[in-house]
Amino acid sequence: MQLHNSGAEIYAADGAAADAALARTTHLGVSAHQDDLEIMAYHGILECFGKPDKGFTGVTVTNGAGSPRDGLYGRYSDEEMQVVRRKEQKKAAFVGEYSAHVFLDYSSGAVKDPNHSHVVEDLKRIFAQTKPQAIYTHNLADKHDTHVAVALRVIQALRELPADSRPQHLYGCEVWRNLDWLNDEDKVVFDVDGHENLATSLVGLFDSQVAGGKRYDLAVMGRRRANATFLASHGVDRSTSLIYAIDLTPVMDPKIDVKEYALGYIDRFAKEISSRLSKLL
Ligand SMILES: [Zn+2]
Repeated sequence: MQLHNSGAEIYAADGAAADAALARTTHLGVSAHQDDLEIMAYHGILECFGKPDKGFTGVTVTNGAGSPRDGLYGRYSDEEMQVVRRKEQKKAAFVGEYSAHVFLDYSSGAVKDPNHSHVVEDLKRIFAQTKPQAIYTHNLADKHDTHVAVALRVIQALRELPADSRPQHLYGCEVWRNLDWLNDEDKVVFDVDGHENLATSLVGLFDSQVAGGKRYDLAVMGRRRANATFLASHGVDRSTSLIYAIDLTPVMDPKIDVKEYALGYIDRFAKEISSRLSKLL
């Protein structure tokens, strides 16, 4: 498969050829940075882990040049950081038994530029070749510009594909903002109970981020645990680990306005608070 950037790479931890590795894909995650998928798309990773008939493929859109760094990594240049972060993502692909991992190697600036068509073209090629049943990407209410830009490029790419080449499900997942605020009926709830060791390992492998100054390993497990306990105020915990997502499947249809669709969740949230206050005041 031809990708635009010379630094792009299709990696298969088990040594499979690129086309064969991509052909095994049933679940696909598309994120801005190295380590986002292990935080947000863990449901897809777990769905495929150890299952011979399923395969998770990851796509990292940026090169990871602008990441924060401290300690051992404090003196690393942007170029050295890119090498470290790609290596860490490959470790995760091995541990999580991904079918393949695709590095697109774009700068954040290129991803955020709506007139830069290469990201969308690369994504279209990946989607057409892998034909996944589910795609996990960032949600539209995330507070990181590059994350939201990746979600918008994913939506654009899917809109430009024929309807029968689109996945059955497109999910917008949690990284830089929890989705606990969604009304319960608007939440997609993924139960990721079990294999806590795998969940912890996958986030912990990104040493340049975790030891480099951000305890994502503890924060992510804490968020999932909190989601499980705070989902239902009147029932006992049914799971120890939940991930929330927004269903983005309808916005694959070019007739749906993306911004209106995202704001609809906030309107319904506002109505829920308003009606409770009206009832109790
Ligand atoms: Zn990120």
